[in-house]
Amino acid sequence: MRILVTGGAGFIGSHLTRRCLDSGHAVSVLDNFNDFYARSLKEANVAERCQGAEVVEGDICDAELVNRLVRDGKFDAIIHIAARAGVRPSVENPRAYIETNIVGTQTLLEAAHRGGVGKFLFASSSSVYGLARTVPFSEDLPLPQTLSPYAATKLAGEHLCGNFSHLYGLPVVCLRFFTVYGPGQRPDLAIHKFTNLIQQGLPIPQYGDGSTRRDYTYVDDIIQGVMGALDYQDTPFEIFNLGESETTTLTELIVALETALGKKAVIERLPEQMGDMPLTCADIRKARRLLGYNPQVPISEGIPKFVHWYLTSRSL
Ligand code: NAD
Repeated sequence: MRILVTGGAGFIGSHLTRRCLDSGHAVSVLDNFNDFYARSLKEANVAERCQGAEVVEGDICDAELVNRLVRDGKFDAIIHIAARAGVRPSVENPRAYIETNIVGTQTLLEAAHRGGVGKFLFASSSSVYGLARTVPFSEDLPLPQTLSPYAATKLAGEHLCGNFSHLYGLPVVCLRFFTVYGPGQRPDLAIHKFTNLIQQGLPIPQYGDGSTRRDYTYVDDIIQGVMGALDYQDTPFEIFNLGESETTTLTELIVALETALGKKAVIERLPEQMGDMPLTCADIRKARRLLGYNPQVPISEGIPKFVHWYLTSRSL
């Protein structure tokens, strides 16, 4: 297949690009290398995982560029991973999130429709579940309220995808990722941020009493689910959770990192953050049934793997 991966210089996008290339697909990456975190980390992702892909530096909101790329690329599939990610920064700067995550997604959908692209995959997020109280979260839960601009833009993105499928018959799969970690993880996310701070002997900010729970998903498992979605053909529009379906408290996470690093954390207790979800947990039965999804890396194995990468990577 010929595949366009947006956000391919980022954490998840670069792992996905590698997997697509290894599976024999031709891959083009579209990424604007924005300064949400250091450009050098994105360049390292490209150097490590995108060898063999065509890398185009540009913005998904640039309709002229996107239309030209999609027209000339004759893609069989677009895997739309690019986004402004992160809950807390979205509270500070919602407009950047609305621009990239809503306008950018619409721009890609229009180009996909116009270019006759056979498949559109959209990276959504567990944050769309907001304050949902029925756990584990299943895809058919009604979603009346999100808790952050980031979550609202991801839910809007899903709806735009649904429109294109309904109105124009574009085959779309939305994938709700549950906190993803692994080599190259974004430096703003807790596992990477805490590892950095513990390693340097600096205090780690713990928001709340440590009892918040997250479903942490190892990046290889996420990629397995995305590849399953690429093959999925049964219905024109579907939403799937991709998580481990296992929850870890913040306190347990810190202990796991201390153990893997062989260092004690200095904890700075701070009030809970607005916009954060108290709990995430994926019901993954639908993905297991229809995508053959079968996550393999529990947090007990994933944290040591992450720390090994961290200690041996050149970013040190
Ligand atoms: P990331 O920031 O590492 O990757 C996103 C990439 O998109 C970056 O390389 C960035 O430069 C690029 N990008 C951003 N705006 C762009 C624009 N306007 N035009 C072109 N490129 C642009 O983030 P990630 O953690 O790899 O997340 C990837 C996707 O998965 C995002 O859609 C995110 O919302 C979603 N997601 C991630 C997690 C997680 O825990 N990491 C959880 C749920 C959902």
